[in-house]
Amino acid sequence: MHKAVLSGLPLDDLKEALKPLPSYRGQQVFHWLARGVRSFADMTNLSLPLRAELDARFSLYSSVISAQLPDPDGTVKLQITLYDGTRIEAVLLADREYRRTACLSTQVGCPMGCVFCKTGTLGLIRNLDSAEIVEQFFHLYLIEKTEKKESNISNIVIMGMGEPLKNLPELRRALAVLTDPEGLGFSKRRITLSTSGIVEGIRDLTDKGPDIRLALSLTTADAGLRERLMPVTVTNPLTQVKEALRSYQQRRKRRITLEAVLLGGINTRKTDVDALATFAEGLEVVVNLIPWNPVPGMSFEGRPLREPSRGELAIFIEGLEKKGLTVTRRLRKGRSITGACGQLGGNL
Ligand code: SAH
Ligand code: SF4
Repeated sequence: MHKAVLSGLPLDDLKEALKPLPSYRGQQVFHWLARGVRSFADMTNLSLPLRAELDARFSLYSSVISAQLPDPDGTVKLQITLYDGTRIEAVLLADREYRRTACLSTQVGCPMGCVFCKTGTLGLIRNLDSAEIVEQFFHLYLIEKTEKKESNISNIVIMGMGEPLKNLPELRRALAVLTDPEGLGFSKRRITLSTSGIVEGIRDLTDKGPDIRLALSLTTADAGLRERLMPVTVTNPLTQVKEALRSYQQRRKRRITLEAVLLGGINTRKTDVDALATFAEGLEVVVNLIPWNPVPGMSFEGRPLREPSRGELAIFIEGLEKKGLTVTRRLRKGRSITGACGQLGGNL
């Protein structure tokens, strides 16, 4: 029989699962899990017979690291194998010398089919459960912890494989585990969810939380072009996406990130600058530009995709800044291990 897995259970569910043991036992196990412990044998404040009993009844983890790929720029990509043999990737980004960001996946593959993204070519294989999301964090956390004693993961971005708003219930549970002050107590302000723009999901997040940061993968605000690059636009028109973002901002009072992956010769035109600036009107945003990370063999309407040239990038940034927008450029991290944005899932 498949043993129940504990890593992804919010505290109350964990207490429930451990019954008839008293609830403080749940609290003890929750504390251990929040410190990255993954074996009952290490839970030294539990008696030996209790550890054995728990071990017989439960699994702490359901996934294992199957490969660890370090990039010379400090990024580390993990390939993680799930209980059913499917694989996902999670990335530890070295933003600054001491700061690390954990980039987590929410699905095996992705159903959204954006034409520029490797993960999209896989289609949706399945949603991850809460345990599989939490475990990605702790797999990354432990690399950090063993190398430098303390973990320096200061931010989480839900920007790995998959569309997070298509798996919101399990993601919510995972975030409840990671942010619970009784456990790790990770700050919600340091968690960012990136979506391709699912109107219903943004509304759901606005209404029911959690109160995390939101990023929209806008790519272009030219609706016609966006429909061809990101099919999600057909059923989630940008006017409705913008309305949902406005409500989110009114409610949550947080600045929203508009991400734009720049595809050379496709969405770097003056009209894209203008459309993006119009879309941003009435919202408080920062624009994050991501020069397209190469994925071999990808094309758009018969033309191979290419990175934007330096000139295209410079003109695009200048155009947006002239319109008064704050623009940041995402660093190209993890390219040599295909761990950069949009490259995940290429060698699973
Ligand atoms: N599915 C979510 C989150 C994961 S994708 C979303 O789409 O928002 C994370 C980011 O990588 C998105 O902003 C996406 O537009 C970008 N991206 C996808 N493929 C890319 C590529 N090949 N190069 C650069 N960025 C890419
Ligand atoms: Fe899915 Fe995001 Fe890739 Fe689009 S960019 S296919 S939504 S992972």
